Amino acid sequence: MAVRLVILGRQGSGKGTQAARLVDAYGPVHVSTGDMLRAAMAAGTELGRQARALVDAGELVGDDVVNGIVAERLAEADVVERGFLLDGYPRTPDQAAALEGFLAEAGTPLDGALNLDVPVDEVTARMMARGRADDTEEGIRRRLDLYESETAPLLAWFDDRGLLDVVDGLGDEESVFARLTDAVDGRLSVGDAS
Ligand code: AMP
Repeated sequence: MAVRLVILGRQGSGKGTQAARLVDAYGPVHVSTGDMLRAAMAAGTELGRQARALVDAGELVGDDVVNGIVAERLAEADVVERGFLLDGYPRTPDQAAALEGFLAEAGTPLDGALNLDVPVDEVTARMMARGRADDTEEGIRRRLDLYESETAPLLAWFDDRGLLDVVDGLGDEESVFARLTDAVDGRLSVGDAS
């Protein structure tokens, strides 16, 4: 069985950790656009060279570029077979529309979108503590501002389609994971019944 999920949440919400656990539990492929961009940067590909300045500044990489890499990845055999957990995508309304198009074309609807909800003050403190190259105070502020302006409206977009579950991301990793699996199990059992 292939599950197709999106995980949303501010940077620093614990999304990466929880995404890895969801992948172990449900078996989809973890498709993280941030990881793909960082891998391209490390490998020095043309995509990586184009993306570097934007990623380092905490700016969004262009929709066309990101939609292209996601479309390619979703068409690969492992994703077709196992499904996906999209992490860091979609991040703009244009990306959401593109995703809707890819899925309609493939005839594979989304099972759900999980919003891991952690307040801004808490994620800022967590990011300052992890010290990644783009985790400067300026970079963090820029990414959080962009999240509010570009990505938060996507919550309404998923909600309008009946796909959104808001999950409280505060508390220990285990409790948060239990809340996420409750939400996913609810989605999957609804799917079974129909
Ligand atoms: P993340 O690991 O998801 O926090 O992504 C790190 C950086 O990669 C972001 O700050 C953006 O510069 C870029 N990025 C990742 N995903 C996207 C996306 N869906 N659209 C545009 N830029 C992205």
